[in-house]
Amino acid sequence: MATPKRRISHARTHNRKAKFLGSLKAPETATCTHCGEIVQVHRVCGSCGYYRGKQILKIGDKS
Ligand SMILES: [Zn+2]
Repeated sequence: MATPKRRISHARTHNRKAKFLGSLKAPETATCTHCGEIVQVHRVCGSCGYYRGKQILKIGDKS
């Protein structure tokens, strides 16, 4: 089995990982137009169930 010829230094490992981890970011957020909650863009609102002005999900509706 092939083995690495040299040990990769901590700095080299860290530099490589930093490139990848630096490219990760939190999902884009917006405020819900119906209830004002912070929601992910292009997703149904988790608290009122509205998306683009229409009710998609019924949330907390027991009647
Ligand atoms: Zn909402």
